[in-house]
Amino acid sequence: MVFVTFFVSCEKIFELKKMKCQTGKNSYSTKSLAETALIDIHIHRNFPPEQGPQDVYQCEFCGEWHFTSKSTSRNVRLQEMIDSGEMRRLQQARRWE
Ligand SMILES: [Zn+2]
Repeated sequence: MVFVTFFVSCEKIFELKKMKCQTGKNSYSTKSLAETALIDIHIHRNFPPEQGPQDVYQCEFCGEWHFTSKSTSRNVRLQEMIDSGEMRRLQQARRWE
């Protein structure tokens, strides 16, 4: 009986790990990775600050990190890039590539 319980819980963990997120969004395993990708997408798609995804959140379904465009506040790292002018500099540099 103990063995059976153990087997079932192992299988459940395996299912969770291979399960694709039902939101269908790109997922990132850490907040830091998601933030880096968030900044990257703003640079590469040349978004004005208020457009595109604004922040990252940990998903209740898959436990990984996704972008959100509905956030009322902007991600701190993204905001710092905009405030410092670094975002505009990188976006402009990208045009000449
Ligand atoms: Zn998810």
